[in-house]
Amino acid sequence: MNHSVQSVLLAEPRGFCAGVDRAIEIVEKALAKFGAPIYVRHEIVHNTYVVNDLKTKGAIFIEALDDVPAGATLVFSAHGVSRAVQQEAAVRGFRVFDATCPLVTKVHVEVANEVEGTMGQLDSGIHLVEDVADVARVAPRQTNKLAVVTQTTLSVDDAAEIAAAIKARFPKVREPKQQDICYATQNRQDAIKLMSAQVDVVIVVGSPTSSNSNRLAELARKLGTPGFMVDSADDLQPEWFGQITRVGLTAGASAPEILVTQVIARLKALGAVSVQSMDGSPETVKFPLPKGLRPWSEDDLVVSESL
Ligand code: SF4
Repeated sequence: MNHSVQSVLLAEPRGFCAGVDRAIEIVEKALAKFGAPIYVRHEIVHNTYVVNDLKTKGAIFIEALDDVPAGATLVFSAHGVSRAVQQEAAVRGFRVFDATCPLVTKVHVEVANEVEGTMGQLDSGIHLVEDVADVARVAPRQTNKLAVVTQTTLSVDDAAEIAAAIKARFPKVREPKQQDICYATQNRQDAIKLMSAQVDVVIVVGSPTSSNSNRLAELARKLGTPGFMVDSADDLQPEWFGQITRVGLTAGASAPEILVTQVIARLKALGAVSVQSMDGSPETVKFPLPKGLRPWSEDDLVVSESL
């Protein structure tokens, strides 16, 4: 059978979110300001291309702080680090820039507030539930003072189902005022819901380690459209496409647009004659850089009330 792609529909929004944009900019600005090498704890964001690109620019990715020499500049990745790592970095006297996404920090603060407020301790009494079956099994020591938070990059629908099961089993549970799943995860999943009915196959650009990218491919499949993830254009398999195939293309929050452009070129080589973008408003969320890496005018801004 001849495999032929007919058209490509691009999801809107797709690709980089504000947290990823900021994390990469922190490493690049630190390299520009302090010179290579800059040490980065864990993959700065879960994308192979981004990590390799920063390596060539002088970033060194490490897991254990033992691998960081005295006096070095260290960046914490967009996913955040434990308190133990923060404390160790402070004791060792590194110059630290925290690239944890502010929306991840928001969830960490919720956990700290709830746990301190209800149990008076931070390091125990936390239970991980990954599906409704886990909710039936979980055995907290008490059920009067419980609170729930979620990871920022989950499936919106699965999280709602799990939250409902928690509420049914523990009616007194405290829920966050606003949902923890971030705007970028929500918007990319909403776009897949709109897109999947209009295409025969959904391709998600994203690395296997990227939670939100995996959720996008999974959602397409749940909606009845085959969904595949590619880390780069080389991963595209011609046998995914039938004779006349409309392809939906999106990218997880950590996947750069250059990879989308390369995938489009490959789809054109497989026959695509039209590439269209879905309607949708671009995202405008932007997070400020940490102090010490902002443009001088912002770092040095002095507000005088006497003027
Ligand atoms: Fe932040 Fe959401 Fe992006 Fe994760 S996916 S870095 S939580 S904006």
